[in-house]
Amino acid sequence: MDGIKEVKNSPLLNALPIWYHSIYTDGIHPDARFPRDRYTKLVEKLLYSKFAPNIDIRTPEKISRQNLLLAHDENYVDKFLNGELDEKQIKRIGLTPWTPEIIPRTLTLMGGAVSALEYVIENGGIAANLAGGTHHAHREFGSGYCIFNDLAVCAIMALENINFNRIAILDLDVHQGDGTATIFEDLESVLTISVHCSKNFPFRKTHSDFDLELEPGTEDEEYLEVVKKAIQITTNFNPDLILFQAGVDGLKSDALGKLNITREGMRKRNNLVFEMIKKESLPTVIFMGGGYSKPISDTIDAFYDLFTDASLANLELMKK
Ligand SMILES: [Zn+2]
Repeated sequence: MDGIKEVKNSPLLNALPIWYHSIYTDGIHPDARFPRDRYTKLVEKLLYSKFAPNIDIRTPEKISRQNLLLAHDENYVDKFLNGELDEKQIKRIGLTPWTPEIIPRTLTLMGGAVSALEYVIENGGIAANLAGGTHHAHREFGSGYCIFNDLAVCAIMALENINFNRIAILDLDVHQGDGTATIFEDLESVLTISVHCSKNFPFRKTHSDFDLELEPGTEDEEYLEVVKKAIQITTNFNPDLILFQAGVDGLKSDALGKLNITREGMRKRNNLVFEMIKKESLPTVIFMGGGYSKPISDTIDAFYDLFTDASLANLELMKK
């Protein structure tokens, strides 16, 4: 529990495992426009809450180069690892100004996702990474705050396991999962489904298996109907595993989202997903996704709801 040593975490049996490292925040330059403090603030809020015993914070290891190559081009991976991306490539990713810490941050963040995946493969239930959901990363380049695609790497890793033949990537972040969609465009064993605003980044959308678009200004009621459709599509696919990109940048106060979803609406959305997971007893990995509210406390509150409600769903799931 790096960086939060003052908080004692004594998780209960079947507590929700969440991978977290202080480098998720510290690996981004303090002057970057990206709200880097959201990770440390969120983990503190979780561990000072009454739900703390339901949560088991774990420390990730760095991902291997070999696992990055499952979903990414070798030349791109090695240029990143050697600190040789050019200015244009870095600008497309953002998170600038870069510090040398961006490399260990990225590898640790990807490692958190891999550990969460390995956990659910072995134990079932829900596990989470307190960062990531890096769905704008393509095979050969990074984009929109995303360097490597954790959803794609995890889906391919899962398929290497004999019990996992159908993977659903349910992406409810307000931005389209364009990188994930192109990586899996020819692979039928991975369902890509993205619910997003039609008029925001990425301005040139790609094709997921299912793209459910919302107009700017969409409110809770309409949003939840579309989420229900997405869940139905997911269920129809009959997956063995869910990779849930749970971005909360559809909130009304989000600086990048353009939708008008309330905190309560976002919570209802997550619980629709958790109901499906419980009903079908589906192993699930939660990837945090976007959230850029002004003030950032709205984003933290919505992620707090996500992880605490996930911990309750996991308790029920593991009781089965
Ligand atoms: Zn987003």
